[in-house]
Amino acid sequence: MNKIELKSLLTDQALGTPAGRIVRTLSERGSLSAAQLARLTGLAKSTVSTALSELRRADMVVEVGSDSGGSVGRPATALTLNPRAGTCIGVLVGQTEIQVIVADVSHTVLSDHSVSLEPDYPPEQAQDIVRQMIAEAYAGQWHSPAGLLGVGIALGGPVNPINGQVLRGGLPRWVGRDVRAMFGPMFDAPLFFDNESNCAAIAEMTWGAAQGHDDFIVLTLDLGVGGAIVSGGKVMRGIAGGAGEFGHVVIDPDGPLCRCGNRGCLEVYANFRPYLAEAEERFGEPLRVNDVVRRALDGDAVCGALIARAGEAGGRGLGLIGSVFNPSLVVIGGRLAMAGDMLMSPLSQSFERYSLIKREDVPEEARTVLKRSHFSENGACMGAVGLVLRHRRHETAMHLN
Ligand SMILES: [Zn+2]
Repeated sequence: MNKIELKSLLTDQALGTPAGRIVRTLSERGSLSAAQLARLTGLAKSTVSTALSELRRADMVVEVGSDSGGSVGRPATALTLNPRAGTCIGVLVGQTEIQVIVADVSHTVLSDHSVSLEPDYPPEQAQDIVRQMIAEAYAGQWHSPAGLLGVGIALGGPVNPINGQVLRGGLPRWVGRDVRAMFGPMFDAPLFFDNESNCAAIAEMTWGAAQGHDDFIVLTLDLGVGGAIVSGGKVMRGIAGGAGEFGHVVIDPDGPLCRCGNRGCLEVYANFRPYLAEAEERFGEPLRVNDVVRRALDGDAVCGALIARAGEAGGRGLGLIGSVFNPSLVVIGGRLAMAGDMLMSPLSQSFERYSLIKREDVPEEARTVLKRSHFSENGACMGAVGLVLRHRRHETAMHLN
């Protein structure tokens, strides 16, 4: 099998050919039957069949057993890209952590590691850590970086899709730096990048709570407040990469200073930092968001109450989002979502209170559904892998070496 060939079949030019469309669809979706491929590519079944025969002969596409799924009758054979055809790297450059996931093109995660960092760590440190973590990820397994199809970077802040420049709002010491210049030269493969909320949206769409949904909103509740807008199966990025930054909608211009430089942003009221500080004071020890969530789930009333208050505040923000988009689905992400109903219940009550359109006003099918993120902690980084698997030059920021 020819790795160059897979790379070439993932290019936009190849989308004009049946093989290119099939390879791209399999890359995006993982495993599919021939019938699903015909439906998703819009190609005739006979065309799909001919192209699949060629792709299987070239060892580019393989069968992955039967996709029984409890269905009656002869199960359709699921097809996937040959796992040996190549790997993708997803990197999360978060506010207090760096995570690296290596996956193959059949969507199997080969390695997943993360390190915690002090807030406001310098970009140079991130470069060193990413380089080292990737080398470690490939050590000791038969996959080699030679088959790398692309690298996706999920950034803990907004980034300009045109010039790769990090914008204010997430990583203060990174503002003005060019993601492409920082990470591009490290790899002999295309680099894709987006902010972590948009990446989380891609992960939810590909593997999570938004599978099968082409239109939805993501709201992330964590130390920061983030969001993403997906419309027609595409992540809306905005002209400068600032779309979906719900955390920085100004609620009160005279409010407290936000880390973005404005005052009274939604994030100031709905982020978890003050609640975390309250918990630390109460317990007299340094805590992470996960610790508070775990204690709440273990029955600690103080931590439970803090999460409920954060949910109430988040619901106010969600009311605002509801009035702008009236979405069919909102996926709630961030580490607070791991608290399950302890967060979701006060959040939905608060959302209902601050929404223009009340549940009782509309039939069941016209009500906004709130779902908890499928991913606990690695959603954004998996989304970075998804950036590579989707390979969409026009949807996401991309830099070709
Ligand atoms: Zn702000």
